[in-house]
Amino acid sequence: MRETKSTCPYCGVGCGVIIQSEGDQITGVRGDPAHPANFGRLCTKGSTLHLTASATVTRQTRLLHPLLRERRGDKPVRVDWQAALDTAADRFAQVIRAHGPDAVGFYVSGQLLTEDYYVFNKLAKGLVGTNNIDTNSRLCMSSAVAGYKMTLGADAPPACYDDVNHADCLFIVGSNTAFAHPILFRRIEEAKATRPGTKMIFCDPRRTDTAELADLYLPVQPGTDVMLFHGLLHIMLWEGWTQPDYIAAHTSGFDELKALVRECTPEHVAQVCGIPKEDLFTAARWFATSPATLSLYCQGLNQSANGTAKNAALINLHLATAQVGRPGAGPFSLTGQPNAMGGREVGGLANLLSAHRDLANPQHRAEVAALWGVPSVPEKPGKTAVEMFQAAADGEIRALWIACTNPAQSMPDQATVKRALQRAEFVVVQEAFATTETCDYADLLLPATTWGEKEGTVTNSERRISRVRAAVAAPGSARHDWEIVVDFAQRLEGRLPSPQPSPAGGRGNAPTPALPQRGREQGTETPSPPWGEGGGEGHARRTLFPYATPEAIWLEHRASTRGRDLDITGLTYALLEAAPRQWPFPAGATEGRARLYEDGLFPTPDGKAKFAAVLYEPVAEPRESRYPFSLTTGRLRDQWHGMSRTGTLGRLFGHVPEPVVQLHPQDIQRRGLQEGDLVHVTSKRGSIVLPVQASTEVGLGQAFIAMHWGPSFLSGVSSTGERLAGVNALTTSAYCPTSKQPELKHAAVKILKA
Ligand code: SF4
Repeated sequence: MRETKSTCPYCGVGCGVIIQSEGDQITGVRGDPAHPANFGRLCTKGSTLHLTASATVTRQTRLLHPLLRERRGDKPVRVDWQAALDTAADRFAQVIRAHGPDAVGFYVSGQLLTEDYYVFNKLAKGLVGTNNIDTNSRLCMSSAVAGYKMTLGADAPPACYDDVNHADCLFIVGSNTAFAHPILFRRIEEAKATRPGTKMIFCDPRRTDTAELADLYLPVQPGTDVMLFHGLLHIMLWEGWTQPDYIAAHTSGFDELKALVRECTPEHVAQVCGIPKEDLFTAARWFATSPATLSLYCQGLNQSANGTAKNAALINLHLATAQVGRPGAGPFSLTGQPNAMGGREVGGLANLLSAHRDLANPQHRAEVAALWGVPSVPEKPGKTAVEMFQAAADGEIRALWIACTNPAQSMPDQATVKRALQRAEFVVVQEAFATTETCDYADLLLPATTWGEKEGTVTNSERRISRVRAAVAAPGSARHDWEIVVDFAQRLEGRLPSPQPSPAGGRGNAPTPALPQRGREQGTETPSPPWGEGGGEGHARRTLFPYATPEAIWLEHRASTRGRDLDITGLTYALLEAAPRQWPFPAGATEGRARLYEDGLFPTPDGKAKFAAVLYEPVAEPRESRYPFSLTTGRLRDQWHGMSRTGTLGRLFGHVPEPVVQLHPQDIQRRGLQEGDLVHVTSKRGSIVLPVQASTEVGLGQAFIAMHWGPSFLSGVSSTGERLAGVNALTTSAYCPTSKQPELKHAAVKILKA
C-alpha cells in the first residue's frame, strides 16, 4: 500500500488528507495529523472520499473519454483527444473571427487547482483577448472580496484558524459552520470547552446546529444584516465602546459613517431585524469590550443583492473597536470551496487580474501584459456569472467553455441558464463526472481528472497554500485540467491572427515589471520576449503556454505576485512539500504570516483602513401577499454542491435522505398542512414539488430548502412550462451591484398543497 499526502477537495477549511492506494485504486483515506488545518481530523465527507473514488463509482459516474455530439439531443460519440481539441479550437476560432473575442465565455470553478485557474485566466485574457472569464466563486466569495477591498484595501482575510483559540468573543454570522465547515467547528467547540468564558454570538435567520454553542442567538430577519451592524455601531458609539485612538491613527471616513448610523436607533433596528433590544446591547457590548473578537462569516452575508455592504458594515465594527490585527481579533470570511482563494489569487474572475491586480487599473493591465508577453490585456470588464449566462441567452455570447462546475443546477434562475445553454452555438463541458445536469447541454465533453489524480496547489480560507498530489493514474483517457487548457490554447494560437506588439507609449504606459520565470526547472529565470515580436502571420511564434508541468505554471504565477500583498516569491513546491504555508511569503521569509495588519498599516494609498458608509437595502424580492414566504437555501452536513461526488454514497444519505421544504410548525398548521404533505413551492420564475417538514430552525414566514438536490431528486417547472430541477428553479438572479454576487439566500415564494 502506498500513502500520498494531499488535501480534501470539498470545503474551504482545506483539511490535509493521506490517500492510501494500491496500484491504480484508492483504497482508503485518513486525516493528515501534520496538516495545520485539521491536525488529522476529517468530517463525514472527507472521511468517505476514498469510497467516492472506488472502481464501481468510477465506472458508473466518470467521464472517461472525449465525446462529441453532432447535433443537440443526439447521443454523444467517442472521439480522440486530437479530434476533440481541434474541433474546439476550430469552433472557438470561427466565433472569435466572426464576432470578436467577447463572443466567447469561460465559466470555471473554485474546485480547480491554482495552476488550472492560472492557465484558464491567461487563455481568456492573454490569448483570446476577452475578460469573459468568471467562476462559480462568483456565487461564493465575490462579496467578501469586494468588502475587504472597500475597507481594508486588499482581498486578504486578516485572521487565521488559530485565532479561534485566542478569541474572547466569537461572532458567527450568516454561516452554518457546524455543517459547512465541520472541522473548523470542532475547533470552535474545543476552544469553548477549554475557555468556557469565551462568548459566542450566533446571528442567522435559521437557528441551525451552529446555534447550539451560542451564548446569544440573534434571529436576524433575512437580508437585514447591514441594519443590524449599523445598529450595533450606534450602540457602541452611544455607550463609548469604540476606540477613538485607533480610529484616528489607522482609519479614515469615520465621520461619514457616524452620521449614517445616527438614525439606526436600537428601537428601529430591533423592529427591522426582529431582534430584542436587550440582545442588541448585549451583542454590542460583547463584541466591542471583549479583549479579542473574531467574526466568522460566509454565504449568509455574501449571497445577497446587498452582499458587499453587508461585508463592509461588519468590517466597520472591527475597525471602530480595534478588533483587528491581534491574536483572536479580526473579520474572517470562510470560503465555501477548496480553492476559491487560489482563483482570486490568479485573478480568475471577470474583473480581476493576476496577483490581486485590478482590471480597471491601467498600470495593472500593463504589468500583466508584460508578465505574459502580450501587447495588452483587454480593458473592458468581462461578464460575471449571471451576466455571462444572460448574454448567452441573448445571443451575445455564442461559445461557452464550462469547467468543473454545473451551472445547469447551481446558478440562480435556472430557466435563463437553460435558455443560454440551448442558444449558445457551441458548448464545451470539461468535467470529471458524466452525471451532471450541464453535460446534457454539451456539444463537446472533455474528461478531466479529479481528486486523487491531480497535482498542484490550493489555498484555504486562512491563506494557507497546500500541495495537492496524485495518488493514482487518471482513469480512461481523462487528462488534467491544466493540460487540456494548454493543449487547446496552443491549437487556438495557430488559428488566431497574431496580435501585434503595442505601439510605444500606447495603452498601458507603465514601468515594465520583472518578467515571469518561464524555466522548466525550479528557480530558473528565462525572460521571454513579447509574443509576436519580430513575427506576424507565417512566422513560427512562441507559445504563450509553454508548460510541461503544473510546477512550471505555478512558477509563473509565483513571479506575478512579486511585490504584491500576496507575495509568495519565497515559496517553492519543495517548501510546500514539507508543509503548507500561509501567504504572504516573500523572498527571504522563513515563515508565512499568520495574521495581517498587526502594525496598523493597511494596503491603501494613505496606509489607513477606510470605513464604508454603506446603505441598508432590503432584499431584492421582498415577500408580499401573493408570495408570502421568505425562501432561503443552504448546505446539508453530508452533501457537497450538486452531489456529483457525495451523491454516489448511500451512507451519506443517512443524515437527510430526501429533499424537503422546512417550515415553522405554526405555518404548517395555519396553512392546513400536515407534515409529509407534498407541496408546490413557487416563485415568480418556477415551481418545484416536495414534502413539507416541520422545523423550529426556521422562523415564522420562512422556508428552507437544501441547495444540493438535482434532477434525480427534485424536479420542477419554469413559469413558462420548461422542465427544471432543484431549488434554483426558484431563486432570483438579482445580484449585488458591486460584487455581482447573486442573491441565492432569498426569494419570495408561495407554498400550496400539491
Ligand atoms: Fe473536507 Fe471541509 Fe470536511 Fe475538512 S471540513 S474534511 S475540508 S469537507
